[in-house]
Amino acid sequence: MAVLQPSAVIDALKTVRHPGREGDIATLGLIHDLEVQEGITRFGLDLSTVEEAEREALLARAHAVVKDLDGAGEVGVTPLLPVEASGPREAILKGVKNVVAVASGKGGVGKSTVAANLALALKAAGADVGLLDADIYGPSMPTMFQVTSPLQASSDGRILPIESQGVHLMSIGFLSGEGLPMIWRGPMVSNMLQQMLSQVAWPDLDTLVVDLPPGTGDAQLTLCQSVSLTGAVIVTTPQDISLIDARRGLEMFRTLNVPVLGLVENMAGFTCSHCGEVTHVFRQGGGDRIARQLEVPLLGSIPLDPEVVMSGDEGVPIVSRNPEAPGALAFKAAAEAMAGRLGEVIAEKTGAPGGDLHLTW
Ligand code: ADP
Repeated sequence: MAVLQPSAVIDALKTVRHPGREGDIATLGLIHDLEVQEGITRFGLDLSTVEEAEREALLARAHAVVKDLDGAGEVGVTPLLPVEASGPREAILKGVKNVVAVASGKGGVGKSTVAANLALALKAAGADVGLLDADIYGPSMPTMFQVTSPLQASSDGRILPIESQGVHLMSIGFLSGEGLPMIWRGPMVSNMLQQMLSQVAWPDLDTLVVDLPPGTGDAQLTLCQSVSLTGAVIVTTPQDISLIDARRGLEMFRTLNVPVLGLVENMAGFTCSHCGEVTHVFRQGGGDRIARQLEVPLLGSIPLDPEVVMSGDEGVPIVSRNPEAPGALAFKAAAEAMAGRLGEVIAEKTGAPGGDLHLTW
């Protein structure tokens, strides 16, 4: 495969005119953080001077001209937009020590299940924990935490999170109502997430876990630009094909300077309750392989377990419902590894010791 030079990428982007200004997007300085690696080319495109109606087409055009280049491989274009925060970045969630995003490249890998059980494992270890369900495509937390009560307002007119199983919860599902079709456009997603961050009366928390929608879209960008994320956890299944999705998520967080705490492999080996034989439905060892290829720690491996499904569906996730079950122990081990990584990234950021983030249940 030809080795692509960054200058060739810039030359290609010079063929893309700014839809509202004289000149091309490269010469006008709209391209940021260009990185060309083997098999991957990524860059940010500043859309702040581009009319909303033109943005999607411009992103597609920039993507297409680079994709056409020999050796470009997978192309990632991150839209860069100023976020109208309702307060300064550090004022949002000021009582929250750590904000951890749980992300996945695609839906259905168990991201929400992992987010819920990680939150409950941290809670069980004595932490004050919040869980923000920002999964616009399928908010699961109302079901997983059996929340049916309506939202209430605090005395200062902000929304009070709902407490269930000791976790402070806010879900996009509480706002939109069950069963309503939800069609979200970029700005709506950003506004909704902004509100859930700044208009909710979050109590003082050790950790706020954010369940992001799958993929690398507006919600991810808004979150990364609105609050100082302490780190991100990427959830994947063990299949090789998941590497592409996991890598996309990883690249996005790296572009946005968010430390990736590690990978959680979900839906690993299934143990037959009758004969004890382990079947690797989604293949074996993939999590470890993907983590090594992406050069991030593997935080844990969660078995494929019918009790995980049942407990989530019945509104008491497995870490609460059966804390000593193998599935629950796997989630706790992942939470412990995540807490260890949080300690490391905090120490790296502040230069101070990370504190004792060892968890005991
Ligand atoms: P996502 O948020 O990635 O779309 P969900 O957390 O909603 O995924 O999970 C999708 C489905 O997979 C749900 O039915 C859930 O109960 C099931 N699931 C998640 N993790 C596991 C697991 N470890 N074992 C068995 N089923 C699981």
